[in-house]
Amino acid sequence: MEPGVIKKLDEVVVNRIAAGEIIQKPANALKELIENSLDANATHIQVTVKSGGLKLLQIQDNGTGIRREDLAIVCERFTTSKLIKFEDLSNIGTFGFRGEALASISHVAHLNIQTKTAKESCGYKASYEDGMMKGPPKACAGNQGTIITVEDLFYNMPQRRQCLKSPTEEMQKICDVVSKYAVHNSSVAFTLKKFGEAPILRTMGRSTRECNIANIYGTQIGRALLPIELQDDVHKFKFTALVTKVDYSEKRGIMLLFINHRLVESIALKAAIDNVYSTYLPKGMHPFTYISLEITPTHLDVNVHPTKHEVHFLYEDEIIDKIKRRIELKLLGSNTSRTFYKQLRLPGVTDPDMEDSENVTILKNVDKERMDKDRVRTDSKEQKMDKFILQKPNEKESDFNTTSFDRIEDESFKVNTTRKSGVLLTSIKQMQGNVERRLNVVLRKILKDLVFVGTVDQTYALFQHETKLYLCNTSKFCEELFYQRLIFEFQNLPHIKLENPLAIKELVRIALECEEAGWSPEDGDKMELAESASKILIEKAPIMREYFSLRINEEGQLETLPAILPQHYPSSTNLPMYILRLATEVDWESEVECFESFCRETAQFYALTSALEMESLPQRHKWLVEHVLYPSFKRYLLPPNNLKQQLYELTSLSQLYKVFERC
Ligand code: ADP
Ligand code: MG
Repeated sequence: MEPGVIKKLDEVVVNRIAAGEIIQKPANALKELIENSLDANATHIQVTVKSGGLKLLQIQDNGTGIRREDLAIVCERFTTSKLIKFEDLSNIGTFGFRGEALASISHVAHLNIQTKTAKESCGYKASYEDGMMKGPPKACAGNQGTIITVEDLFYNMPQRRQCLKSPTEEMQKICDVVSKYAVHNSSVAFTLKKFGEAPILRTMGRSTRECNIANIYGTQIGRALLPIELQDDVHKFKFTALVTKVDYSEKRGIMLLFINHRLVESIALKAAIDNVYSTYLPKGMHPFTYISLEITPTHLDVNVHPTKHEVHFLYEDEIIDKIKRRIELKLLGSNTSRTFYKQLRLPGVTDPDMEDSENVTILKNVDKERMDKDRVRTDSKEQKMDKFILQKPNEKESDFNTTSFDRIEDESFKVNTTRKSGVLLTSIKQMQGNVERRLNVVLRKILKDLVFVGTVDQTYALFQHETKLYLCNTSKFCEELFYQRLIFEFQNLPHIKLENPLAIKELVRIALECEEAGWSPEDGDKMELAESASKILIEKAPIMREYFSLRINEEGQLETLPAILPQHYPSSTNLPMYILRLATEVDWESEVECFESFCRETAQFYALTSALEMESLPQRHKWLVEHVLYPSFKRYLLPPNNLKQQLYELTSLSQLYKVFERC
């Protein structure tokens, strides 16, 4: 048999195939046409459809119109009024098709354009086939704007026509596209109707996205919306969203995603959002989300094939991560989550700042970064839920007396109780009195009977009291505890001996190198500063040694630190800064101020767990929290009113179940 003769395909056929690839279905063509109308600054867009867009797809706008002299070429491939130089390709705000939409349509359908600009006294209409205008434009009456009429889509491509779904299904997709663009462009009035029938969908111009969502997707969704915004200068993006609260969910889940004002899809972003919601929503249920993302056009992959609605952009992971955290934060702070993130309100205790403050203020008190659920939720391996039921109060208290406090010279680490005999300084008595006066009795009762549940992260832990579960800021409670121990164990504190004494001067010098110290050249030479700080501390050494077991020898070397709680050692990473602050922040002049500021500084230092140590010894940290810190809160802490803000009552059991079921 003779080999087949290879022929070059007819150009018309090539174009047709290419156009068929691009258009694929009426909704895709419509999307392009809507974008053209928006690009032409239209404020009214009306879409008329016959037979799911297969017979007729018409879009009428009141935009700028097309100049008469351009009508001849609008349907040639790669003609566009929007792109002048190649370099513009990476700068265009719109992406996807570039001068291909009208051309493509003209290859696979009967295309008519009727248009009128403001300058011209009458309108013009023209029809197109295979990228060419058929005859000169004809003058006609009409308002400013453009009417694009697409008839008999794929009339010349029977196979492709057969691939299309039923008119009803195509209509569904058209409706979806119009709905989404109407939400995103809420200042534009959209109408969608079947030919000769009343509108299926209509939005008012100068509306809001919220209103349009309620109008199109239902008032139930409209009422559940939370607005979110995020502007990021690092990855240069702007994120605006309206997402449903966690008390709303639906089976199919609706996501409207616009990237640089173009309707697209992003599997990665969708997955990230589903992941955020999966914690709160029942299995198989989804939220409604409208998201608009604006990215530097240069960061966007503009060369994605037009049929690919899936987009990619630079720093995708980082940007998605930031968006995720933002949504998470918003969901936690939303009204709905009030039931389970209600701030502790104590019966009978009035707190003026709390009286009329809504739940919104709750989050203000919390380090926002920490409120994401990754941190609030705990690893199942770490958190022993069985303790929830099994552990009885007091069970762990014995740990205290039996554990050896190995680094303490003085073996007789006395827990509270017997103070050194002798008269307490009035200043200290006064400070102790203040602590007692500030005591919140209800909070004390809660701490006294707390049952530890588990650590959450380096800051938070969970404990139970009666039927309630609390999320507690361990660090803040710790700081107060250390402060109180310093005051109540005044003159009576054991000490931690340093293996090698450390030169104060050297420590101060190291601290001055830290950004945190805020050293600037005006402050003077670092060596000199270190010298004078060391001098101050050597001079005040007797006070620190006598009352707080902090020993600095005559050579200016730090020998011991107070042992405030058994098994607890302050972080060495923060030691230089602590020493510097002792020299600069403690008011050495008056007695009360001196003790007060010394104790506050020391408490802060002891409560800081350096991130480094947390990383290297996470197990030890957890052990400490459970076996030393919380038992100490139980035993000693006299919580002042303001600690209420560091304790969150988790009340709604059904919500709790959702948070923890995945552990
Ligand atoms: P692109 O939108 O990428 O420029 P198109 O093929 O979609 O390519 O459109 C070609 C050109 O036709 C546009 O650049 C614009 O000048 C003009 N045009 C298309 N639709 C409209 C419209 N509705 N109103 C005004 N001008 C339009
Ligand atoms: Mg276009």
